Amino acid sequence: MYAKGDSLSEHERDQVIDRTLGVLQREARWGEEGTDPALAYASDRVPEELYWASVRKRVPPNRAIEMLSRVRGSGFVAYGSGQGIVGAAAAISWPARRKTWEVIAYRPRDRWGSDRSVDARSVQAMSLKYRETFLSWDPAERRLLVTPHTPCPILFGVRGRKPGRLLRAAREICSEKVERQVLFETNQGTGDHVYLSRVSEVELGTSPALSGRVASPPRVLRGGHVSFGLSDGSGEMPCIAFEPGKALVRVVRRLAVDDLITVWGSVAWDPPLRSLRLEGMEVLRLAPRLRHLQNPRCSPCGISTHSLGKGKGYRCDRCRRTYPPEAAKAVLVDASDILGVHLPTESARRHLSPLPGAAAFARTILRPSRRPSRASCP
Ligand SMILES: [Zn+2]
Repeated sequence: MYAKGDSLSEHERDQVIDRTLGVLQREARWGEEGTDPALAYASDRVPEELYWASVRKRVPPNRAIEMLSRVRGSGFVAYGSGQGIVGAAAAISWPARRKTWEVIAYRPRDRWGSDRSVDARSVQAMSLKYRETFLSWDPAERRLLVTPHTPCPILFGVRGRKPGRLLRAAREICSEKVERQVLFETNQGTGDHVYLSRVSEVELGTSPALSGRVASPPRVLRGGHVSFGLSDGSGEMPCIAFEPGKALVRVVRRLAVDDLITVWGSVAWDPPLRSLRLEGMEVLRLAPRLRHLQNPRCSPCGISTHSLGKGKGYRCDRCRRTYPPEAAKAVLVDASDILGVHLPTESARRHLSPLPGAAAFARTILRPSRRPSRASCP
């Protein structure tokens, strides 16, 4: 909770804190695992350093409490493991330089926990009419993305890049009774969780962006997932694009060794290695791609040669003369359509993942003023 400056009297402030604490104590699902509710308040912003640390890495509660306690008019209440205080204090430190909005529609209390009734066709129509909304409907998978899957009081949420028409957009969704709607500023779709790193410095459980060259070609795994190796000079990182990310997987399959790319995603432990689970990729420069059309002809004999195997060249059956692989007639294949930023299909996207065309994300994360050193193109 953050009231800017002295916009509230001391009495009003105490009232707001008391009422909020009352709701928290009444509504928390005490006794359930992971119930770590917390309330933080302050009259000034907590330094944004806490936001960036907590959105990108795991921050211990003590560190958040220490930063919060240095701020004027601050205080907190934390239950359970105390981990909730990190998110609460980090929310007061959010600089909101990149932001989106979400209208959340709530259900009356007597409906909490029952099946939700939200008409998919009206969500689809709304997302086509209001192009500034995002992650409402996945056209490829024909899946509804506005409803949560937990027994929480939320009926649905409509996310948008601009707040102006969002309340109107939410009203066009046909559903069971909505008790109230609240418009929130959010960090969804900002890519704030991604930080620039080198392969040798990545940490498990975080979401780095890595730039380098494709070091091993894409390989299709069981289940349609695709893996390849990325090298940035400091090390090699196995990268995996999972099948549900369809649109991204299709592009990853077309990568070639020595393409220059930037990838981002979460670092997971896939024994015996760690790997980067791809959330997005920018293809920066392509290595030349050759497609062999014909085996070379033997010049003295005038007949076609036989291949000796991939990359081993050719031989004439009549005079036994050999020819190098480059002697084959080949054409350059144009793959320039895969240059640029690629994201997974909407239903496979994480909520913080940058939006398509998130220019601010590309400028600040993918192209910082100090570029990481890169292997050069051959
Ligand atoms: Zn010959």
